[in-house]
Amino acid sequence: IKGKEAIRMTCEQAQALVKARLSHKRYKHTLNVKNKAVALAERYGADPEKAALAALLHDAAKELPRDAMLQIFRDNAIMAKNAASRPSPVWHGIAAAILCATDWGVTDPAILSAIECHTTGKANMSLLDKILYMADATSAERDYPGVETLRREEMQDLDLALLHSLEQSIAFVREKGGALDPETLAACNWLRAQRGLATEEKT
Ligand code: FE
Ligand code: FE
Repeated sequence: IKGKEAIRMTCEQAQALVKARLSHKRYKHTLNVKNKAVALAERYGADPEKAALAALLHDAAKELPRDAMLQIFRDNAIMAKNAASRPSPVWHGIAAAILCATDWGVTDPAILSAIECHTTGKANMSLLDKILYMADATSAERDYPGVETLRREEMQDLDLALLHSLEQSIAFVREKGGALDPETLAACNWLRAQRGLATEEKT
């Protein structure tokens, strides 16, 4: 089928593109995220090719200098929204989504959304958003405390694993005294409300 063919081609191109743009270590991470994203897509009935493409491209802008990312935001103000005022660790997802749309011919809004929010989550995440977020958090090379529990949970209850991952990330940022992105808090509160839990304190 022609549509499938086009997506497969794009996955191959995406892999070559990121191989050229990323360090070996981050390229390996990217392939691990792809494998995990495909497994989660198959588990939850999402399109595995979309999951693969989103995963392959999610960190494509991660090794750009910060000035280059800020320039991308200035050149694409509508897509970038308030990116420049958000904590710099979240910039690379937004920059990658913009480059996908402007330079790389990836136009599927579901894929762009998943790439854009992969570091932080957001309220009302789609299945693909959740899959990429968790695939990035639990890819094979991750070894932080608690990752094994998340790997188990994500195959049983994706939303619960996502909530726990977001809570851990909020606790980690607070512990370090870093800047907490409002979207992470929004994602966490959204999931907690869905489960009838009290919302996180806003800070
Ligand atoms: Fe990332
Ligand atoms: Fe990543």
